[in-house]
Amino acid sequence: MDLKGNSVENLNTSFNALETFLGDQKTLEKVRELLKRTDGSVSEEQKIVLNQIEKTLKCYIVESDDAKALRESMMKKEGTLQKSRNNLKTQYTDKDGKVVDTTPTVIRTKMRSDPEESVRKSCWEMLRKNGPFLLDNGFCDIIKERNRFARELGFEDFYDLKVTNAEGFSKKKCFEMLDGLEQATKPLLDKALEMLKKEKGEDATKPWNTGFALSGELTKLTDPYYPFEYAPEVWGRSFSKMNIKYKGATMRLDLCDRKGKYPNGFCHWPTAPYKTQDGTFIPSETNFTSLATPDEIGSGNTALTTLMHEGGHAAHFSNIVQGSPLFSQERAPFSVALAETQSMFLDALCEDASWQARYAKNRKGETIPWELIERSIKERHPYKVFQLRGMIAVPYFEKALYEMDEKDLTPENVLKVADEVEMKIQGGLAGRPLMSVPHILADESSCYYHGYVFAEMAVHQTREYFFKTGDGTIVDNPRVGKELIENYWVHGSGNPGFLGLVNNLTGSPLKHDAWVKELGVEVEDMLKEEKAEYEKALASASSSSKDEIDLEMRAIFVHGDDVISDSNDSSFTDACEKFRGWIYQEWPKTKTMA
Ligand SMILES: [Zn+2]
Repeated sequence: MDLKGNSVENLNTSFNALETFLGDQKTLEKVRELLKRTDGSVSEEQKIVLNQIEKTLKCYIVESDDAKALRESMMKKEGTLQKSRNNLKTQYTDKDGKVVDTTPTVIRTKMRSDPEESVRKSCWEMLRKNGPFLLDNGFCDIIKERNRFARELGFEDFYDLKVTNAEGFSKKKCFEMLDGLEQATKPLLDKALEMLKKEKGEDATKPWNTGFALSGELTKLTDPYYPFEYAPEVWGRSFSKMNIKYKGATMRLDLCDRKGKYPNGFCHWPTAPYKTQDGTFIPSETNFTSLATPDEIGSGNTALTTLMHEGGHAAHFSNIVQGSPLFSQERAPFSVALAETQSMFLDALCEDASWQARYAKNRKGETIPWELIERSIKERHPYKVFQLRGMIAVPYFEKALYEMDEKDLTPENVLKVADEVEMKIQGGLAGRPLMSVPHILADESSCYYHGYVFAEMAVHQTREYFFKTGDGTIVDNPRVGKELIENYWVHGSGNPGFLGLVNNLTGSPLKHDAWVKELGVEVEDMLKEEKAEYEKALASASSSSKDEIDLEMRAIFVHGDDVISDSNDSSFTDACEKFRGWIYQEWPKTKTMA
């Protein structure tokens, strides 16, 4: 991050201390001994905390020696593969036939935006090289050892182990739910592929063309309605109107790019909130960083969606009130699906006409015109199923990978299986080849992609619940924050867990119905509904814009070591205004952008 006073040594010390704590067999034994007591010396409340400690430590402590040895060996192999990955050059051939060295980000951007088909194809071929490279460097052996390790611990295979630890249900249950979604959306996929051919030509179905054919000019046209420097205030206002509170949390926001900054945006919690034994609540601390360039087209929209998303994670974590920070720390056994449901539910609002009518405004305060929303729905809605199919392809591929017999686990077979899954699930070879998805490689991130799928499922079910109950709205509705806090957030990673929480709030087990139903709505009907929402919002929104924003949070805007503004000096709105002034000073072009 290139910050003053940073110290690799301190980082290693605290990292090792955490590892030691999480891997301490003695703590685990002590916890089990306490849980066995029946003499009343351990209260019910303490038992809840003890169970959580056991659940957490079990994710990190390996109790069998054989399994321990396998674990060490597979981590070592993974380390070697990760290291050799740096030897794979990222290159593409430009339109003049020159080979260009580049980064994965550029490859992805070019596939979406380069007008030259041969360049896009060359980028796609680069992505396809990931597979053979990983397979030549020991990927198959890693899969074999992960499976042996999982079986040693009594699981069906590594996938079964991962899903059980992360979500609390088995691989079987996981794929029962995915199968239902797969079958229900197959007809929608076929329809979308047909339409793509009809509207954009047969060539558009080629993997290096689809993304480009569907990208269009909308980002450019809608850009003025998402001024970057207003994004924090818009996020704060929208959350405040929904009565979302942060329970005294501190959030440090470092939004803009600079030289030497860590090349990935993220959000983390150096202090996880909890209740001490005497009942005192310790609020959370959040650091949030992104890599925005404020005068770049599309940066305002990205910043806003990211703030709604990461600000959603932060709101979720701020409101976990349990007897130990182990309920609110972000690593396993925290359910990926549960965490992502909260952030994705909130960032999904940015696509609602009802939200856009209130919050998508240009620098003169003019609201985004209906015509642009209409165009966005027409261009995007019929093809949304592509994203879903691309998402579920990852768990289906990993399932097949970990279910292969050891003797069949050869580079040729793995590549074949990857292509087969792409053909079956995505209807052709994928623009993002399965073997290029970074998640499949690392122990930590492999076999958890289903978490995003279930989160999206839960988002749709939660939206449907709010639409069908109360006054049927989400945007600016104070009931939303209250219900999210009480039903989803307060429990953290303790009971009743992801599926239980969704059931408790929505009154139904998690199902794909709401998601599939929305994808199946005809464009004409969607336009009618959204137009009505847009007009209703315009009629009611005029009074809202100057209300005070109250998030019960201290927001500190920083740029590396420099503090730009601090809401504790006066108010959140003032801090946002100072932030705007700073942006105008550092990126003067933003002030004059239309
Ligand atoms: Zn997230």
